[in-house]
Amino acid sequence: MYPVVEIFGPTIQGEGINMGQRTMFVRLAGCDYRCHWCDTLYALDDPQVTHMKAPLILKKLITLAPHCKTLTLSGGNPCIYDLEPLINELWDATYSIQLETQGSIWQDCLRNVDMINLSPKPPSSGMYKPDLDLDPFLKFPDKAQLKMVILTLEDYQYAQELHQRYPEVPMALQACNELDRDTNGNLLAKYRSLVEIVANDSLMSDGVRVLPQMHVLAWGNKRGV
Ligand code: SF4
Repeated sequence: MYPVVEIFGPTIQGEGINMGQRTMFVRLAGCDYRCHWCDTLYALDDPQVTHMKAPLILKKLITLAPHCKTLTLSGGNPCIYDLEPLINELWDATYSIQLETQGSIWQDCLRNVDMINLSPKPPSSGMYKPDLDLDPFLKFPDKAQLKMVILTLEDYQYAQELHQRYPEVPMALQACNELDRDTNGNLLAKYRSLVEIVANDSLMSDGVRVLPQMHVLAWGNKRGV
């Protein structure tokens, strides 16, 4: 049984290199981290969850949108659960699976997802773990991306370090929306500031993208439609 916070869609992926792509979302409850600026707190502590087995999750997805065959599995950190039954179910139903995690827990079944959206947490999160082994997640650069939230100079330096360590892995930087989730003007100012920094940084390759959180700009919160 998986503790499901929400299943919704079709909507768009609002972050990272697949921004704008149509997808369904399944959000599982719980996380082994507690980041200062977590934007899915409602999925962490005492959420109103529905416990569902993998076949029921699949049935719900098909009921909502039989035409949408891309699925983003998010949290919290979904990797705190054994994901093999769910990934197998979705795989058999020919879903393209994108997994969102911060990289604290590896499982062998993750080799079967189509894209790992990895967001290792930077110093400003309060959960920075410099010794985290990200190699298993980033072993296949065509099936992974690094999504880095930037709030401070130390966060940016961490992104630089990871880009040097994994130059083949696509990287998306986004300004942290910690204090101004509903004031897009500030968020856009932060975005422009980050663009300026990356545009003039010789340590960042041209492949590094600076992206807004599209769903926040469009809807003012973490959800799509
Ligand atoms: S890892 Fe993600 S879901 Fe967990 S507390 Fe941090 S931001 Fe929130």
